[in-house]
Amino acid sequence: MKLKSLVINGFKSFADKTEINFQPGMTAIVGPNGSGKSNIIEAIRWVLGEQSAKSLRGGKMPDVIFAGSAARAALNRAEVLITFDNHDRYLKIMSDEVTVARRIYRDGNSEFLINGKQVRLKDIINLFIDTGLGRESFSIISQGRVEAIFNSKPQERRTIIEEVAGVSKYKKEKQKAEDELTETEDHLERIADIITELE
Ligand code: ATP
Repeated sequence: MKLKSLVINGFKSFADKTEINFQPGMTAIVGPNGSGKSNIIEAIRWVLGEQSAKSLRGGKMPDVIFAGSAARAALNRAEVLITFDNHDRYLKIMSDEVTVARRIYRDGNSEFLINGKQVRLKDIINLFIDTGLGRESFSIISQGRVEAIFNSKPQERRTIIEEVAGVSKYKKEKQKAEDELTETEDHLERIADIITELE
């Protein structure tokens, strides 16, 4: 799976539709302070399902929409599209390219799309879980995060390794199965009580 392109439209400082095509090799984005480099990374985190407006340096989610400048009026919609090359079927979708899109309107309404089809946020989260691109993954390391990883508790560091190794999905499934088992045991105990009362 390779990142192919990113389209940012109305998101933060990107009032105009901007497309970034990622070529093989390394891509570096350079620019003066305040020119929008971090906004590009935030656009990637947002389209991949980020739910915390605070971690995108905003108060509420519609704050990601272009708020206007001296020369331009504010917009009412922000949209980000990210496209991956999926020839290796790394993402569990039977298509060579996967495009994930997210839109938000001033009134707070949102839309999520996978290959042009409307989906739920949950579907996007599930698509990227354990791929190394999920919300909690470390494929995107923002400023100050390196120190945070070094200073984290062993338990937190284990969670990071589990996410990278792709076992968190199985841990979640195990927890679900254990909860169901406990519930079934409770039901069995209740049935045993009823049988005892009837005997
Ligand atoms: P640095 O090198 O200092 O880290 P940067 O290139 O990463 O800077 P960003 O932090 O991505 O820059 O961009 C900050 C700019 O984005 C600011 O000028 C800010 O006003 C603008 N900005 C952020 N949110 C919005 C918004 N909703 N509407 C319009 N402009 C916005």
